[in-house]
Formats: sequence, C-alpha cells, structure tokens
Amino acid sequence: MSELRVRADLAEVPAYKQGRSADAGDDRVIYKISSNENPYAPLPSVVDAVADALAGINRYPESAASALTARLAGRFGVAGEHLVFGAGSVEIVSQLMRATAGPGDEVLFAWRSFEAYPMLARAAGAVPVQVPLTADHRHDLPAMLAAITDRTRLVIVCNPNNPTGTTIGDAELRAFIDAVPPHLPVLIDEAYLHFNQRADSPAGIEYFRAYPNVVVAHTFSKAYGLAGVRVGYAIAPTTLAAAMRKVSVPFGVTSLAQVSAIASLDAEPELQERVDALVAERERVVSALTAAGWQLPETQTNFLWFPLGEHTADAMGVFDAHGLVVRGFPGEGLRATIAETEANDRLIAAATELRERELG
Ligand SMILES: *Cc1c(COP(=O)(O)O)cnc(C)c1O
Repeated sequence: MSELRVRADLAEVPAYKQGRSADAGDDRVIYKISSNENPYAPLPSVVDAVADALAGINRYPESAASALTARLAGRFGVAGEHLVFGAGSVEIVSQLMRATAGPGDEVLFAWRSFEAYPMLARAAGAVPVQVPLTADHRHDLPAMLAAITDRTRLVIVCNPNNPTGTTIGDAELRAFIDAVPPHLPVLIDEAYLHFNQRADSPAGIEYFRAYPNVVVAHTFSKAYGLAGVRVGYAIAPTTLAAAMRKVSVPFGVTSLAQVSAIASLDAEPELQERVDALVAERERVVSALTAAGWQLPETQTNFLWFPLGEHTADAMGVFDAHGLVVRGFPGEGLRATIAETEANDRLIAAATELRERELG
C-alpha cells in the first residue's frame, strides 16, 4: 500500500483533544464541564440578530468585518487597522504564529497552558518552547525571559492561565515586557479577562498602547457565550496586524459570527450580570472546597484546577460517578468549569468525596 505524502514534520503535531461530551445513552443528567463554556443559553436579542442574518447566508461574509471593527475600535480607542478577526481567538493565535514563525523558529510559552499552543506552533513548522509553571502553578516569567534565544519569534503570556486559573500581576508583567527585546512580539491571551477580578490585574489593552510589540487576543467564546459561532480578535501593532491578515483563512469569520458579536456588545450589561453570577458561583464553590480541606490554586477564571498528579485518573472516575464530565490531564490534574448551579453543587460533592477518599 502506498502512503500518501504529507509534511513529515506533522508527525510532531499533537492532536487537539476536545473536552469530552456526555456519553450518549447515559440517562442520568450529565453536565459537561470540560470546555469552559458559558452555561447560559444565548440571549434572545442575540438569537434574533442571528435569525435575521440567516436570510443572507447565500452571500459571503464581509471579510473586513467593518461594523464589528468600528464597534471595537470605538470601545478601545484604537484605529481599525489594529483589529484582526479570526474563527475564535484560537485562529488569532494561529495567525500570529504563522505570521511570525517558520521552520526552526521558536514560539515560547508557559506550560502547562492552553493546549492549542504546542499544536499550532508545530503546524506553523515552528518549535514550541515550553517553560514549566512555578510550583504554585503560575507563569515563571524570569525563566521565560531566560529561555528567549535569537530564534524566538513569539512569546505568549496566558493571563489568566488555562488550565490552572492563575494570574499575573501588573508589576511583574511590566518588568517582564520591559526586559523582552522590543522587536520580539508578545501575545497576551486574555480569553478569561472578564472573570479576572484581581485588583492589580494588568489590562492587555494598556500594554498594547504602551509597548510597540504587544498583541492582545480576546474571544467571544467564554464570557459572551458564543463558543459555537467562532469569533475572536486581536489588537495588534499595524505591521503584525497586516501580516496576520495575510495568513488568515479568507472569509473565516462568518456573517452569523459577526452579527452575534455585535448583538453581544449591544447586550453587554446583561452579559456582565451572567459573568458576575458565574464569579459568585465560583466563590461559593471555592469556599465550600476550602471548608472541605482543599487548597486549590487561586482561580480568576470560570474554572478550577485540581493538581492531583497521579490521582488524576481515579479522581476523574469520581467526577464521572457524580455525572460530571471534566477535563483531565493524566499525571497532572484536572480542570472543571463553573457551570449550572446543579453542576456546581455536584462539583462540591465530588471534590469533597475526593478528600474523604484521600485522592486530593
Ligand atoms: C478558550 C480559549 C481561547 C479561545 O477560544 P476560541 O473559542 O477559539 O475563541 C483562547 N485562549 C485560551 C487560553 C482559551 O482558554
């Protein structure tokens, strides 16, 4: 049998593992808390906007996304040329890697962090350089600085970090970016920005304004609850923004994605109430788990990280028995999303059981 020829270096690309869905055929109510999705159904105003736009789906979307560009340019006080759109901010990460790095070049980021980073770096032909988190599950910024070489083409800072939920403070991020050579792009991935209530939190947009090499990535998937339509964006220096557009997939951001994003910006106060409710639920769960004896890394996201090491696989079985599908990283830990109240109650019960069974 002859093998069809594909790029040999793709053998290095890890496959993306989607958060597991509930098993079909299981008649219990199962909550999928494995993908950091927003548990709320879309707002009626967003559904209406999408319904209106359905009549036009025989046409290509407007690739410049000019209405959405104008909205975001106004909100952030930046020129439209700095905004770049993608099919989710995962495509923004991909564009940035492919715009900056090629074969033999290095893309530097913390590890463990967002699962897509190594995969997308390899797909760009580049070498992912993964700098271990500190013992308390945070970015080790001094070690990241020390890992910069003359082959480094892009540095990624995920704040807050997925999957550990940990954050970076303003002073430490400023010291870090001050020390990065100004010709080296730094991406601040702020997918969980809305959930971050840390008092001294650095705002990526301020860094974009202050530094010539900072790119910020935002998504409509998490706080805005639009994971299914796929829309995210970067705020990037002009040169990078233009290069990112060159490597983007033409018409990658659908018309439905564009109208949903605009309708969501129109409904921000309502969406903020949902974010506030999820943050309150997060605090409720964290308090209950602290009372049960857990000392989890402080999360500023819509998920919790359980650093369970070798107990991870057994612990997943316990969550499963409680009707919860979580995201496990065997040998390291598991991530559980703050979701519906009932799912959160079960999360408390399952995690309390882990303590009783001495699995955490
Ligand atoms: C969810 C997530 C994204 C982007 O998700 P999209 O659905 O592609 O917008 C980006 N970065 C991190 C760290 C995430 O967790």
